[in-house]
Amino acid sequence: MRDRLRKEKILVSACLLGIGCRPDGRAKKDEMISTLLNETIYFILCPEILAGFSVPRQRIEIKGGDGEKVLDGKAKVFTEKGLDVTDKIIKAAHIVLEFCRMAGIKKVVFKEKSPSCGKDFIYDGTFSGRLIKGKGVVTALLMRKGIEVKSFKEFLKKSGVTEARVTCW
Ligand code: SF4
Repeated sequence: MRDRLRKEKILVSACLLGIGCRPDGRAKKDEMISTLLNETIYFILCPEILAGFSVPRQRIEIKGGDGEKVLDGKAKVFTEKGLDVTDKIIKAAHIVLEFCRMAGIKKVVFKEKSPSCGKDFIYDGTFSGRLIKGKGVVTALLMRKGIEVKSFKEFLKKSGVTEARVTCW
């Protein structure tokens, strides 16, 4: 029991663990991450579901920059059909931050490319599949508040999983 309480607490994007919360509702689980997380106490959530989105849902992307710019009021988040969901995503980011604080979580492993969870890359806002460097909105807020955010790929590498075995989708 004591050992378990000493283990690191990590928050993980729910979709990485096979929860069908992605916009298309498909569930994709990576067995490797499940194995690695056995050594930790982990929590899973999906910021977009927290924001009130359903499954399936329209994809959303950031236009005009990345999550940092969204937090600074210089970029916005839109659905494919042009609905402005910026406030919803910012609200979700604050809920996730509060959850981390309450649960004592200082490390997060997030799914890359998402406008919410992306760490190093996000889509460019044109819904064309093009990537740009930048953070998602939730990642940007958590990092500003001192929480360590790693992409799934970084987490696997740090855990000793070789490049060949890294499977990011
Ligand atoms: Fe939800 Fe984040 Fe996964 Fe997107 S990347 S489905 S917001 S957990």
